[in-house]
Amino acid sequence: MRLTAGYFILFQSISLSVKIHFMNLEAIIGLEIHAQISTKTKMFCGCDNDAFGKEPNSCICPVCTGQPGTLPVPNSSAIEKGAKAALALGCRILPHSKFDRKNYFYPDLPAGYQISQFDEPISEHGAIEIEVRDPSTGESKLKKKIGITRLHLENDAGKLTHVGNSSLVDFNRAGTPLMEIVSKPDIRSPAEARAYAEAVQAIVQYAGSSHADMFKGEMRFDASVSLRPVGEERLYPRAEIKNLNSFKALESAIAYEIKRQTKLWEAGTPPASEQTVGWNDEKGETYLMREKESAADYRYFPEPDIPPLEFTPEQIAAWKSELPELPLARRARFVQDYQLTEQDAATLTADKVLADYFEEVAEKSGQPKKAANWVLTEVLGRMKNKLLAEDGNEMAFEDGEGILLEDSIDSVLDLKFTASQLAALIKMIEDGAISGKQAKEILDFMFVGEDGGDPAAIAKAKGMEQVSDSSAIEKFVDEVIAANESVVADFKSGKGNALGFLVGQVMKASGGQANPKLVNELLAKKLN
Ligand SMILES: [Zn+2]
Repeated sequence: MRLTAGYFILFQSISLSVKIHFMNLEAIIGLEIHAQISTKTKMFCGCDNDAFGKEPNSCICPVCTGQPGTLPVPNSSAIEKGAKAALALGCRILPHSKFDRKNYFYPDLPAGYQISQFDEPISEHGAIEIEVRDPSTGESKLKKKIGITRLHLENDAGKLTHVGNSSLVDFNRAGTPLMEIVSKPDIRSPAEARAYAEAVQAIVQYAGSSHADMFKGEMRFDASVSLRPVGEERLYPRAEIKNLNSFKALESAIAYEIKRQTKLWEAGTPPASEQTVGWNDEKGETYLMREKESAADYRYFPEPDIPPLEFTPEQIAAWKSELPELPLARRARFVQDYQLTEQDAATLTADKVLADYFEEVAEKSGQPKKAANWVLTEVLGRMKNKLLAEDGNEMAFEDGEGILLEDSIDSVLDLKFTASQLAALIKMIEDGAISGKQAKEILDFMFVGEDGGDPAAIAKAKGMEQVSDSSAIEKFVDEVIAANESVVADFKSGKGNALGFLVGQVMKASGGQANPKLVNELLAKKLN
């Protein structure tokens, strides 16, 4: 059955709560995604922007700690990367934009204001296509377009850690360049929200604008959720769930909020005012933080220390021309050129690093389909097992494929063997130098970096190279034929499985090292 988008939305809602169907309500969801821009230095000063794992307050200066009399200097690389992400998300770069001060007090915001963009952002009017798994089949995916209102630039705040009755502040993150990507309220279910967030993550990574590593807090979500009776056009007061830091939290928090608001609607008391809520991951519920602030509360005004941004059409065209092939296009090409399944192509292209790795293995081995299989099943499978075996990584896999993949991606770069070496392993199987089973054993050694990850050296050192010398195999064949007269008779009388048994005996006699193809050929020749 072919479902239209409308049916699908309803179906999603039903699966969340039977009561939604009863009330005939639909969820209206919008996301604000904050992604750190991957620059060497911070947004407005020369401090190291890669503070992950570094001593607290070791990457700071008078500018990013908001000292009086300091002047911010915009980072041109952050602006370029932000603009490229915007273009990759289908946004239009505005020829003229500016920075504004967003005033509020918080202990991790030393200046007392954030430098952001208010009414003239760097870009507007984007859209991306997402695919959501059809809940009725679990397989086929339904396409949908999600609008993007704007992508603007700003700087991040520091980080507070609460210990007992004290709070510690680390300003290493203060001043990190951020892009805020604001979607239109086009999302209708937790699954769509996740699909959208994953698509944005892949796109900003492809654009080279952000590593968007969830584990390092480089990408975070705020989700606005409201309900309305199906058929109505107006929007009702929304709850904004702040600071969701995993795809799982995003899905769970939205699902919870839909249930909570559905109860209010059914009780005849739908939400009357906008609220800002937090998400308690342990309890699996949202909690009220405050009535939602509006733009007026921040007293925005143009940043007096930074001149407006001006871009020529030539500059914008140059950025656009520098963008690489984006995830959806690359996926379609993998299906077309390498005959991969849609699912395999989707998994491989979800991250550029993984896709690049796969393509190198595919090209160097000349076996794209086998390369996909080795990368997805053998390499990613071993990475998952390794991570599961390490303490503290259980959380990573509760989130399923998304996080597994995300984590694997960093690890593809960290592997102790190269794409060329994996390609060489695949070629060794094709050439009959080793069996598939031996190749898997060799890969285990490659994972721990034995012999520099060189499969041929490992095969030799472990005595795993297949014997492809026919005179050596002939000796084993003769022995097996002599020792199994009755089976040979069975074969001659037409019993099909007799040959398989004899092949097995020759393999056993050779210690598993005979080339099975040669064994088959020689046995057939001798017996006929
Ligand atoms: Zn600084």
